[in-house]
Amino acid sequence: MKTTLKTDITIRDICEGFVYNELEGKGLFGLSGKLTIQPEYQRNYIYADGKKDVDVIESILKGYPLGLIYFVKVDKDKFEVLDGQQRITSFGRYVTNKFAVKDENGMEQIFTGIAANKQKKILNTELTIYICEGEESEIKEWFRTINIAGIPLSDQELNNAIFSGQFVTLAKEEFSNSQNTNVQKWSAYIKGNVNRQHFLERAIDWVSKGNIIDYMCRHRFDDNIKELKTYFNSVIDWVSTTFTDIEKEMCGLEWGRLYEEYHKKGFDPKKVSVQIQELYGDSYVKNKKGIFEFILGGKVDTKLLNVRIFDEVTRKSVYKTQTKYAESIGESNCPLCAIGHDSNKSKIWKINEMDADHVTAWSKEGATDIKNCQMLCKTHNRAKGNK
Ligand SMILES: [Zn+2]
Repeated sequence: MKTTLKTDITIRDICEGFVYNELEGKGLFGLSGKLTIQPEYQRNYIYADGKKDVDVIESILKGYPLGLIYFVKVDKDKFEVLDGQQRITSFGRYVTNKFAVKDENGMEQIFTGIAANKQKKILNTELTIYICEGEESEIKEWFRTINIAGIPLSDQELNNAIFSGQFVTLAKEEFSNSQNTNVQKWSAYIKGNVNRQHFLERAIDWVSKGNIIDYMCRHRFDDNIKELKTYFNSVIDWVSTTFTDIEKEMCGLEWGRLYEEYHKKGFDPKKVSVQIQELYGDSYVKNKKGIFEFILGGKVDTKLLNVRIFDEVTRKSVYKTQTKYAESIGESNCPLCAIGHDSNKSKIWKINEMDADHVTAWSKEGATDIKNCQMLCKTHNRAKGNK
């Protein structure tokens, strides 16, 4: 690969014929049509909040370096931006009056509103540009290793660059398209940002059982994404029919793995819903994220809930001792009822009307053993747990 360092290209040169697509929020062309700012493998423009745009302009006005910019020479007199797209889009938009920046008096000014010497300073700023020539594969490989200040590329953005082609194009149309009406549904289960390729990453992660790079390599030249889409939809359908209520803790769970492990087992969504509500209401369950797998696995692996519970033998034994003592002094077998002033003061609860309680809360290292166990009526247990 050959690289040439250029330091005589100015912002004025780049902004010559700058075309910005408002709809997509992308700078498209510059340098009198010779430069493609948004090649296929570049990430989506992500300075959309406006803050970074302003930072770029303020840096230029202060004379700070903008950092290295990389172009790929794709043809005689034709270039693509390999890195620096966001900085170029920022100053291109500013110079074409797309946004304002506060001046020293705190006044918002668009480009044509600022002093002529400042305009000149911006336009005459020379950029440091590396122009790379070489095989597509070696440029992309190298692109993976360059690390430029600014927002780092996400793993999937890098993979999209390295394995760019028909498959990535189709996959992005489906999974990194904020216009896709399914995105809202998906975001109940998948964490991240559709524009930063997090949804596409999950889709490939699921179908490939975690082997994203291998999968992208094998399917790079496919002309369809049928398998990817079908598998993804199967997972989403399975989750949304098994768990009919959407809880915020569902977002970001390993649904691909859970689907593989449990989708062949039948579940009654109504029962599942009741179980979930019970566990959500249980003050001993500290890891709500674990509730879903706990239920899928048949409610045996309590480690998933990060809670220790008293076993049946302990509960029965404590109930017996407590009740025998309570009866002997004519008070309620719930110690909290016994010190109260209502009609429950001497009520003897049945064992199924009571719950085992940690005298010292388990969260404060209270042991789950018989010495730290007391039986409380359900009402008092719940009240205590919610404190
Ligand atoms: Zn009570």
